[in-house]
Amino acid sequence: MTFTTKRAFNFNAGPSALPLEVLQKAQAELVDFQGTGMSVMELSHRSATFEAVHNEAIARLRKLFEIPENYEVLFLQGGASLQFTMIPMNFLQEGKKASYIQTGAWSEKAFKEAKFFGTPVEAASTKENNYKNIPAIENINIDPEAAYVHLTSNNTIFGTQWKTFPTTGDIPLIADMSSDILSKKVDVSNFSMIYAGAQKNLGPSGVTVVIARKDLLEKANTNIPTMLQYATHVKNNSLYNTPPTFGIYMLGEVLKWVEEQGGLDVIEKRNEEKAAYIYDVIDNSNGFYYGHATEDSRSLMNITFRVADEELEKKFLAEAKEAGFVGLNGHRSVGGCRASAYNSVPVEACKALADFMVKFQQDNQ
Ligand SMILES: *Cc1c(COP(=O)(O)O)cnc(C)c1O
Repeated sequence: MTFTTKRAFNFNAGPSALPLEVLQKAQAELVDFQGTGMSVMELSHRSATFEAVHNEAIARLRKLFEIPENYEVLFLQGGASLQFTMIPMNFLQEGKKASYIQTGAWSEKAFKEAKFFGTPVEAASTKENNYKNIPAIENINIDPEAAYVHLTSNNTIFGTQWKTFPTTGDIPLIADMSSDILSKKVDVSNFSMIYAGAQKNLGPSGVTVVIARKDLLEKANTNIPTMLQYATHVKNNSLYNTPPTFGIYMLGEVLKWVEEQGGLDVIEKRNEEKAAYIYDVIDNSNGFYYGHATEDSRSLMNITFRVADEELEKKFLAEAKEAGFVGLNGHRSVGGCRASAYNSVPVEACKALADFMVKFQQDNQ
């Protein structure tokens, strides 16, 4: 990869890095999109030109993520956070229960919203352990009467990630995949619904992807405000009102980029390689650095770690910033350091960070 312009080593947790090639293409097309004499942002969302962009993005996502026919793909707004609300609003009735698997701050927020509509119950929680790990499948207690089970596939703040998912039989499984969607292959048919804010792995903020099985959607409450009904967006191909057109265009371009990289197998291997550079430095540092997550639960997307000495940690973050590494401060609720190595973060950036960490240890031990 050639960096013709100054590009930061961007480890931001979200919004986060986008592929340089995508940004350059968007730049080239910005003032005259496909001979229309206007940018994508200036097109009518009812125009054939935009509809093609919209439908191509849906088709690309279906193909790349191998989404079966009996699932709808929606582009919504309000972020993953509005899904925390829409899910119970549509699928949980007063007096009914839903099982939530608590693996971090985002899971907690989802749980909190469900209380407005019904009774969320904890199927498992690793809070006592400061969310260092994903619960063992055998320790998950799903309420047999639950309307659905909710989990967070990758815990952006704590740096843990599910390696295998529970199977929930007839009870719909719903996953917040905001921070690891499209980072690897997933068996979509194991889930009744998958949702993700775009700004980590899929594109800029503003679009929220919802992938939902038709039989779940059929059970949705229709006695709620129009914009908050999944049915409204299904019926209108996510064009009920003005969608975030530029975001959808960018999402489509990111998906094209993933295709050009060789698809999810290549992306997955690359993500493993990228994370390994950094985890290897942590593991070989004799305790100079230590990870937050237990080894079996480590995320390939968000690498959370500490420098054992607190003063040195401050120095590490300051010098890393100086050296051009952006976004390495841990989330304010956890502290420490976090490197987010989403799909668009190049191998070179992870390698450079690993080298920097080794050098910093040598200089400060
Ligand atoms: C970032 C994030 C969210 C919040 O997404 P918004 O689009 O900002 O609402 C929710 N869940 C997870 C796992 C996240 O990483």
